Amino acid sequence: METTTVKAFGTDAAEAPLNQMNIPRRKATAHDVEIEILFCGVCHSDLHTARSEWGGSMYPCVPGHEIVGRIVNIGGHVNKFKVGDIVGVGCMVDSCRECQYCQEGLEQYCEPGMVGTYNAPDKHLPGNPTFGGYSEKVVVDENYVLRIPDNMDLAAAAPLLCAGITTYSPLRHWKVGPGQKVGIVGIGGLGHMGIKIAKAMGAHVIAFTTSESKFAEAKRLGADEVVLSKDEEQMNAYTGKLNFILDAVSAKHDINAYLKLLRVDGSLALVGAPEEPLPVAAFSVIMGRKSFAGSAIGGIAETQEMLDFCGKHNITADIEMIDIQKITEAYDRLLKGDVKYRFVIDMASLKN
Ligand code: NAP
Ligand code: ZN
Ligand code: ZN
Repeated sequence: METTTVKAFGTDAAEAPLNQMNIPRRKATAHDVEIEILFCGVCHSDLHTARSEWGGSMYPCVPGHEIVGRIVNIGGHVNKFKVGDIVGVGCMVDSCRECQYCQEGLEQYCEPGMVGTYNAPDKHLPGNPTFGGYSEKVVVDENYVLRIPDNMDLAAAAPLLCAGITTYSPLRHWKVGPGQKVGIVGIGGLGHMGIKIAKAMGAHVIAFTTSESKFAEAKRLGADEVVLSKDEEQMNAYTGKLNFILDAVSAKHDINAYLKLLRVDGSLALVGAPEEPLPVAAFSVIMGRKSFAGSAIGGIAETQEMLDFCGKHNITADIEMIDIQKITEAYDRLLKGDVKYRFVIDMASLKN
């Protein structure tokens, strides 16, 4: 396989900071598009993976799966895109395409496993992991590439590729809409998109935050009500009131305190992925026939549907743009919940 060398930012070990490095990219094969990366969002999963908090990270690790860029080259059999198109790449770059789930558009649950944009074995470059969007370029099969609606600011669109679809997919699956009270827990990158999307779907949205500063302004994002989750009295006022809860918290927290807020037959879907288990008390789900569920990103067709939905409703992320050289500082601030609400890397800074 022919390769070229491109600049990237990544790490060689869980304990090491991210630094500039060179990585190989394959030359575009028949169905590939080569994308010059313009912007890449910083997802908390990047941090979990770079630091191997879930275990099993492969090194060198180049994170980044909220990619927006411009196509600079295409393979001979590409028919969905042309050179110059503005496109997105999210959390997966391939899947088996044959299993029941791939056939149903649920590639994220592919039976042999989807191929992650980073930290997955790269079948094209054996011995290497896939490398993510903290890099100059990426080469992706056209079937795993998304179209960015024309009306979107490109930097603010990048977080839709993970935070957007990860919240859109469960909100759709659990049929959130008018007449429903929906809780969004943890107002970070995912949570703030959850508020915007649930609101656009017509739900009555209640944001739950541990941060006083977000309490003051969550309504600007579209929340109808805001609850300071550390305040037991405020929490108790919602006991048995919610139809659905989307939990996007990145660290250990008490799930039972939220299951209590569901109505009979209500569901809580976890999208946040803390490294430790979250104990669920039997009576938190027995009383009220409640469901405790989870959800991973979304399929390719659903991701395009989400982008088009966001385009139509003028939804993008609230971002803070950073240079790639500030990534360690950004990770430290992410851990403190100190970002409103998504860091996006201006990839032009990688040229510095
Ligand atoms: P983020 O921007 O860091 O947001 C996480 C939010 O959780 C924080 O803003 C904070 O919200 C809250 N939080 C953090 N520590 C907390 C604690 N100790 N107790 C209570 N609340 C706390 O992260 P993100 O990028 O949105 O990602 C969130 C999680 O989803 C991560 O674990 C990530 O790996 C996971 N994820 C999953 C999928 C999937 O497919 N399921 C996809 C992407 C990401 P407040 O300040 O409002 O309290
Ligand atoms: Zn992500
Ligand atoms: Zn499959």
